Amino acid sequence: MERVTYLVLGGGVTGLSFANFVDAKDYLVLEKERALGGYCKSTHKEGFVWDCAGHYFHFRNAALRDYLLARMPPGSVREIIRDARIRYKDNLIDFPFQTNIHQLPREEFLDCLYDLYFRAADRSCRSFQDMVYTRFGRNIAEKFLVPYNRKLYACDLDTLDADAMGRFFPQTTMDDVIRNFKVRGDRSYNATFLYPEAGAAQFVTALVHDLDPSRLVIGERALGIDPDDKVVEIAGRRVRYQYLISTVPFPDLLNLMSWPADASCLTWSKVLVFNLGFDAKGPQGIHWIYFPEEKYRFYRVGFYDNLLGAGRMSLYVEIGLAQNDEVDPGREREAVLRGLEEAGIVQGQNLVCSETILLDPAYVHVSGSAQRFFEETDRLLRSKDIYSIGRYGGWKYCSLEDNLLEAKALAGDFNRAQAKLPWDVSDAG
Ligand SMILES: Cc1cc2nc3c(=O)[nH]c(=O)nc-3n(C[C@H](O)[C@H](O)[C@H](O)COP(=O)(O)OP(=O)(O)OC[C@H]3O[C@@H](n4cnc5c(N)ncnc54)[C@H](O)[C@@H]3O)c2cc1C
Repeated sequence: MERVTYLVLGGGVTGLSFANFVDAKDYLVLEKERALGGYCKSTHKEGFVWDCAGHYFHFRNAALRDYLLARMPPGSVREIIRDARIRYKDNLIDFPFQTNIHQLPREEFLDCLYDLYFRAADRSCRSFQDMVYTRFGRNIAEKFLVPYNRKLYACDLDTLDADAMGRFFPQTTMDDVIRNFKVRGDRSYNATFLYPEAGAAQFVTALVHDLDPSRLVIGERALGIDPDDKVVEIAGRRVRYQYLISTVPFPDLLNLMSWPADASCLTWSKVLVFNLGFDAKGPQGIHWIYFPEEKYRFYRVGFYDNLLGAGRMSLYVEIGLAQNDEVDPGREREAVLRGLEEAGIVQGQNLVCSETILLDPAYVHVSGSAQRFFEETDRLLRSKDIYSIGRYGGWKYCSLEDNLLEAKALAGDFNRAQAKLPWDVSDAG
């Protein structure tokens, strides 16, 4: 039987980062798809560059950014100042909604400002929906934050934790709102971001740059795990590991082990993505638009062409679906094309080519019961040398940078533990 120290399940950003940063190069990355990258893949079709919907890199850690950029062709990554809007009653207002209410019609602006000013004194909020009403007042909640997030999460927002989106939720203060009347300011996490000319997957190419290709197994999935024997079953072979680093969705990991506990508290949304390439240009400059209104089937439309200055309109369109929703891509596609015309984005341009992607899971529903279940189960798994990390392995809302940092930190723990082994000469004195 094959043996390996670190068996990494999943060749997305998290799994590849772990392989990059672990010192002992005795690892095997197992990826079920024919390509590495997970949700950070790009396709090139008839001159269009597409990702799995919008995938932008915003780094807080400069060393990590430089590590990746050093492994990419010089000058191939653009730094972009975000231009994101919200389509609200046939007008476009700047994102975030809550700091740009002065762009609404006068009466609606006054309603939002009044509610914001007289919002309840801050108190602990019992849910995401409660947080939105408490911190922003009824009008901001009902005009944008509730309808938009309901489309994104495809669930009752009262079932989500108040902090479900953590630092990614744009908070605002009264000072921010008033200052923004005169001076445009934006403290949200993705006000600027990096985007490579070859698409988001260029970052994955950077991650693979230093890895040994013979240790990356693509097109093969884990079929079962025996946590007591520390064996993973793959079609036609069995691999014994010392440590299992899993980045596959947490419910899938539990299924692979036939874990006995009821995991029904883990719920999530799916996102159906349409990548659409047209023969002529559409709106200029805008990077993406949020659509809170129900009459539009999608919650966001992004413009790849405006990231890279391309001459033809190239879109991603995102539709949020509940975990058990049936997916009918043909019907959804018709609704998308109708909605794009209604929104004035498609105005006679012809569709040249398209692609449909289902991200399942897309947004995990962060709730108290899910977090407790994850933490308790994760503790048990770690005692069996199984580490479940990443956005879906760790069952959380996070960014690509967070994935890189989490994997690097875990690799660092192993590196330090290995360095301290009794036979290490550095310990001799
Ligand atoms: C719509 C959307 C937009 C996003 N936009 C951004 C953004 O702009 N910026 C940002 O920073 N983040 C963004 N994210 C988050 C980002 O996509 C994730 O944080 C990141 O891709 C997670 O990487 P991962 O490696 O943890 O998981 P994944 O990318 O899901 O990788 C897990 C891998 O495991 C493989 N796998 C699954 N089961 C098995 C099995 N049994 N055997 C072997 N392999 C298996 C999968 O094929 C996959 O390749 C977005 C997410 C979504 C849903």
